[in-house]
Amino acid sequence: MRSLICATVALACAVVASMPAGAAEIKVTLLGTGTPTPRLSSFSAATLIEAGPERLLFDLGRGSTIRLFQKGIPLGSITAHFITHLHSDHVVGLPDMWLSGWIGTPWASRKKPMVVFGPQGTVAMTENLTKAFAEDIRIRIADENYPPEGAAFAATDVAPGVVYDSNGVRVTAIEVNHGEKIKPAFGYVVEFDGKKVVLSGDTKPDPRVAKAAEGADLLIHEVAVIDPELLTSYPNYRAIEDHHTSPEEAGKIFAQAKPKLAVYSHIVFATVKPVPDVPEDALSARTRSTYRGPLVVGRDLMSFVVSDHVAAFAPDGSGLTPLTGSP
Ligand SMILES: [Zn+2]
Ligand SMILES: [Zn+2]
Repeated sequence: MRSLICATVALACAVVASMPAGAAEIKVTLLGTGTPTPRLSSFSAATLIEAGPERLLFDLGRGSTIRLFQKGIPLGSITAHFITHLHSDHVVGLPDMWLSGWIGTPWASRKKPMVVFGPQGTVAMTENLTKAFAEDIRIRIADENYPPEGAAFAATDVAPGVVYDSNGVRVTAIEVNHGEKIKPAFGYVVEFDGKKVVLSGDTKPDPRVAKAAEGADLLIHEVAVIDPELLTSYPNYRAIEDHHTSPEEAGKIFAQAKPKLAVYSHIVFATVKPVPDVPEDALSARTRSTYRGPLVVGRDLMSFVVSDHVAAFAPDGSGLTPLTGSP
């Protein structure tokens, strides 16, 4: 029903899209759809999932704080943070979220420890960050009287399985294959009121993602397109390509899982001549060779509302029609 309304009344939908999730809905906002590439249009990995009173952030890439600010969501209001793996494009925003989120302003004001779940190494990283930023913490407590608890971490190294269960929202970590030397790397499954959203994390095509996403409302999957010419001039791109999923491979995962909606985020798009933005056609045409179901090429600040169906919204809040069928 909402998508029908949104197709005709964009203004009303802008209002709807800026509202928190309803009683039995899951609302997903892509905060960062990019990679280490410093693109203005696509910051690195971060996805906000709101369900009931929970505000969960998955990965803390570059600019997560800026995107939350754009959405009017106080940094200190995130109830828990989840890290897929410890590659820098997934965690460089963590110190910003942690320390800026502690500042006593309307857009931050965390008063309790920052709750973080991630793979082995997450706790050590938070301990080392605490040492690195000791002076800032000391100064702000002495000078601005901020509560010391707000600059603490409540961090946990997790294993695959249920890692969070609160207010009817359950988060399960699944192991994914991001390469032999990047272990563990996780995807996450978020369930609430019979609805399911799956995030692949960074991964090569992995049947475990397809299995976890069977019957999902939303499957958010990474994808990589690398210009073959780059592979000769910058051989390390071969390793990058080998750690990710091509559009054809992602299409096969989508075709197997059959989510109500498939979405690309964490889009690796590398060309000899850098492009300012990721062209949608190049991704969708290649995906269509293996998958014909509903697909959205993610952009920063796109959002999705999962109720008895899945409604998609453009960054400006207007209704969005997913790509379907042939290219
Ligand atoms: Zn990675
Ligand atoms: Zn990444």
